[in-house]
Amino acid sequence: MKYLEIDIAIVGGGPGGLAAALQAAQLGASSIVLDKRDRLGGVMMGGTGPFAAGTIQQRRQRKTFTADQAFEFFMDFTHWQTDPELVAAFVGKSAETIQWLEQLGCAFENVVCYIDKGYHTWHENDMSKGFITDNIWKAAQKLGVQAMVNTRVERIIMKDGKAAGVCAVHEDGGEYTIKAKAVIVSTGGFGSNPEMVKKYTKFELGKNIVCGSTLTDGDGLKMMWEAGAVQGRMMMDAHVSLIDRNLAGKAGVSNDFDAFKQPNLMVNKAGKRFTNEAVMHNGAYAINIVSQQEELCGYMILTDEIVAHYKKEGLDILLPMKPPFQEEYADWPRNFETSLAEVLDKSDDVFAADSIKALALQAGIDPVQLEKTVAEYNEICERGEDRQFFKASKYLRPIRGKKYYMGRYRASSFCSLGGVEINGAARVLGEGRMPVPGLYAAGNDACSICMDTYSFFTSGLTSSFALNMGRIAAESAVADICEAKEEN
Ligand SMILES: Cc1cc2nc3c(=O)[nH]c(=O)nc-3n(C[C@H](O)[C@H](O)[C@H](O)COP(=O)(O)OP(=O)(O)OC[C@H]3O[C@@H](n4cnc5c(N)ncnc54)[C@H](O)[C@@H]3O)c2cc1C
Repeated sequence: MKYLEIDIAIVGGGPGGLAAALQAAQLGASSIVLDKRDRLGGVMMGGTGPFAAGTIQQRRQRKTFTADQAFEFFMDFTHWQTDPELVAAFVGKSAETIQWLEQLGCAFENVVCYIDKGYHTWHENDMSKGFITDNIWKAAQKLGVQAMVNTRVERIIMKDGKAAGVCAVHEDGGEYTIKAKAVIVSTGGFGSNPEMVKKYTKFELGKNIVCGSTLTDGDGLKMMWEAGAVQGRMMMDAHVSLIDRNLAGKAGVSNDFDAFKQPNLMVNKAGKRFTNEAVMHNGAYAINIVSQQEELCGYMILTDEIVAHYKKEGLDILLPMKPPFQEEYADWPRNFETSLAEVLDKSDDVFAADSIKALALQAGIDPVQLEKTVAEYNEICERGEDRQFFKASKYLRPIRGKKYYMGRYRASSFCSLGGVEINGAARVLGEGRMPVPGLYAAGNDACSICMDTYSFFTSGLTSSFALNMGRIAAESAVADICEAKEEN
């Protein structure tokens, strides 16, 4: 057993943990970052674009979205169920954090709006200047921050009701006891833990949802609950997707099948239409309705005539909505048929046939019901008015042609969100919403500002929550350490 002593022990070296470490060092506190991966940076090296409100970049692009607007947005989006103090602290810090990152060498030239009716909040990181987390870590190292990778933290040491350090194990078997005046946890949630996803959400990993975050096993949540944190709301940051890995293409994410992600006829396992398909404009809203159907899935139907229309006129929904993506992919779905032919035998998520009946049989849907639904939908299209679900007439295209295609939508997610509650000072809350002394959290573990649905309207949210609440956690920890010093 090896013993270390430090001001702040930081569990997790993603954007939350690294931002906390650098901020603590800038305020004069020593810290060590512990991560069970073989590198620092966390999932996706902290994401590719953080949310912020009230930045110079937004003003320059004449796409202002102020902190006032952001506060009102989150409170309304969650029906005022989320914590106003937390929202105010987060959005109020976000513009300054963009400047802080720029001082470290990051550059955010472009601010992007992700979906229709959304805001320009996604501050695209100029990758030629390095990953956000790499730039934070370089600055932190210069200020003497220590790190141990391949080191899994197992528990938080509690002394007299206060967090007083952590116990960790290196992959070589070496055990460490790290005594600290404060502990900050940012371990990225529970999104890759099948048991926790099943227990705490309506989804099942691999069956009806996939998660982009790896090695986020809920460790931080379990150790904080054990230390006295109250369990907070838990959800998956989910959106509709064709989740079969066979469809992912060479780059891991194929856009060739985005023709399916359009507002055409969608049915459930029973072969019935169940929604206004314009909901596909917002993948997070779409999964809310799709996941209420049998087997938590929806089947989008296309025809060769609709695909030909998209090739000529472009897709109805481009994701993300705004430049830089729009120009680059304007001629989607150029490879639709060839890409589909390559994967048809390998995937249970896409189907092709010469008739609706054959399509239904392939997908395990009642053919009689599906033919009835298609006939009713075609009547709606001919009338040009959707009195069933009030879909805009521009999206009413009959299901007719020589070829019929079907895509089965289920849930994909970037990560999980929530598990512990924090206040605006990033203090972890225990019974009676009283802070657990010495314990702070950031990132996905503590992200409850969306409540039950991820907000694509204000995208870049989760990495930004990690960065901002990580910094705030460090500020609070250092303030508490200084106060305790004065008292002694
Ligand atoms: C494909 C993809 C694209 C994304 N794009 C964006 C984007 O553009 N904008 C955006 O805002 N967000 C994006 N995200 C989400 C973003 O990456 C996460 O929200 C963010 O990384 C969360 O930060 P975090 O600090 O909470 O956790 P993480 O980044 O998950 O880091 C947690 C760290 O804790 C470590 N850890 C876990 N348990 C332990 C333990 N017991 N002991 C020690 N270490 C431990 C893990 O190894 C990990 O390194 C994306 C995610 C994915 C998967």
